[in-house]
Amino acid sequence: MKLVFFGPPGAGKGTQAAKLSEKLGIPAISTGHMIRQAMAEGTPIGKLAEDYMSRGTLLPDDVVAALAAERLQADDCEKGYILDGFPRTLVQAEIMDKTGILVDHVIDIEVKDEAIVKRMAGRRVCSKCGAAFHVEFNPPKQEGVCDICGEALSIREDDVPEVVLNRLRIYHEQTEPLKSYYKKQNKLFAVCGEGSVEEIFDRIQKAVSGEEK
Ligand code: AMP
Repeated sequence: MKLVFFGPPGAGKGTQAAKLSEKLGIPAISTGHMIRQAMAEGTPIGKLAEDYMSRGTLLPDDVVAALAAERLQADDCEKGYILDGFPRTLVQAEIMDKTGILVDHVIDIEVKDEAIVKRMAGRRVCSKCGAAFHVEFNPPKQEGVCDICGEALSIREDDVPEVVLNRLRIYHEQTEPLKSYYKKQNKLFAVCGEGSVEEIFDRIQKAVSGEEK
């Protein structure tokens, strides 16, 4: 099962990918989380990323594609994977096709821009394991603490309103054209991303099993 979770920033890709990863026993791979980790560790990619990340713009395609390709070579990806936030441009999708990174289904989690802006204001993330919560819609068991690893939760620097608007603009300009790319390949499954975490998860499971298209 080789899946791509697609959708605007804040659509719930990370939350849903983590749930499906647990259920299917395949890893959820977030290029955004990998980049944030590289920044925390101060690696060359991390240093390069700082400027892009703070403005909400995309890193160069070859840099992200190389990062993802390396991760996908790990043994835990043999049975499949869920890609969250990659590919994000047509060039990235073409690099995947050329280098043999396979995709069976693309799950397009659809949420309107107005709802995204509201959601982002309440998002809290764990900088250690990457888990995402929402103060209202998906609160952690203990306020401000990650349910999974116990680390303190924080607000992502690119979740501030002006950067969110820029990320949405970039999504529409550079990432959304990928929908028709995967539609032509008959791999795109659209899922409504509004409602409770469980409701959306239910829809995703149906889409993955081919019940809905
Ligand atoms: P995310 O956690 O997926 O929202 O990603 C956060 C940020 O990481 C993005 O705004 C980009 O700056 C960078 N990033 C993550 N994935 C990609 C990608 N596939 N291509 C380019 N930049 C990316």
